[in-house]
Amino acid sequence: MATIGFIGLGNMGAPMAANLVKAGHLVSGFDIVAGRAEALRTKGGRAATTMPEAAAAGEIVITMLPAGPDVRSVYLGDAGVLAHAHKGALLIDCSTIDVETARWVATAAADARFDMLDAPVSGGVIGAKTASLTFMVGGDVEAFDRARLVLAAMGQTIVHAGPAGNGQAAKICNNMILGASMIAVCEAFSLAERLGLAAQTLFDISAKSSGQCWALTSYCPVPGPVAASPANRDYVAGFTAAMMLKDLRLAQQAAGASAAATPLGSVATNLYQLFVDEGMGGLDFSGIYRFIRKREVKI
Ligand code: NAD
Repeated sequence: MATIGFIGLGNMGAPMAANLVKAGHLVSGFDIVAGRAEALRTKGGRAATTMPEAAAAGEIVITMLPAGPDVRSVYLGDAGVLAHAHKGALLIDCSTIDVETARWVATAAADARFDMLDAPVSGGVIGAKTASLTFMVGGDVEAFDRARLVLAAMGQTIVHAGPAGNGQAAKICNNMILGASMIAVCEAFSLAERLGLAAQTLFDISAKSSGQCWALTSYCPVPGPVAASPANRDYVAGFTAAMMLKDLRLAQQAAGASAAATPLGSVATNLYQLFVDEGMGGLDFSGIYRFIRKREVKI
């Protein structure tokens, strides 16, 4: 059993922290939104009332925050993790952020004599709830070995991706695939509708053909074929379009910095930008189907 401070109890963090409790760990949670730590307490965890309290709660500190600036402030601020964590604590940031910030914060942690890992996840809220996330981990191998047990309580696949920042590099490459493939699936269903091909029929065929991909078979953007997908709940997120846009922008930023050509990634970023600009950023990212399909057009 480990003692763990968990900061950021949102869509992902709340079920991840709950799974740590279920696995027998002593988890003290904190979130700036009132009531989220209390919700963890009702599941058997502890509710920290301040960030320093959560940061000092144990031998491991895990963060699951929206974006890079949040990670900087939670780790580097006066009330933050580096200022308050126990000597020798292992720090694990599971947020999806830019590679540069991940490396910057890891260096600051190393200067303060903490081991730190960037460990972003794939698998969405469903994976967080069912403890089946994939973790892509950057940092020292020794720190990775120390983290394995707690990560295994929240995920099924745990991969060491290399030194600090490489977990984030893997994550933004993966999400560039996801953003582009979700749009491709949406376009295919929209075209099928205009050609008089039923969505379920296209699903049944493509799920067993070369068009098969996660966006189709696990997260189908069209209501009907996949019971668990947000399309069947009016696109309540899940993983918001605003978060997908954030990840695509991170990929574009990294592509620019490394002179990598990513034309499909660039188009996907612009389409998600237009979708979010229509006020749809809070919808699940698969809701871009509505934007691509528009209303039914008679031809
Ligand atoms: P979320 O917005 O639901 O949760 C983030 C939480 O962090 C919120 O509860 C917020 O109040 C809290 N927070 C923000 N600043 C804080 C601070 N200073 N101190 C304490 N708490 C603070 O976001 P999410 O969907 O849980 O995503 C979290 C991260 O995981 C993001 O980086 C996202 O890109 C990544 N991610 C999300 C999904 C998904 O499907 N939702 C999938 C994979 C990765």
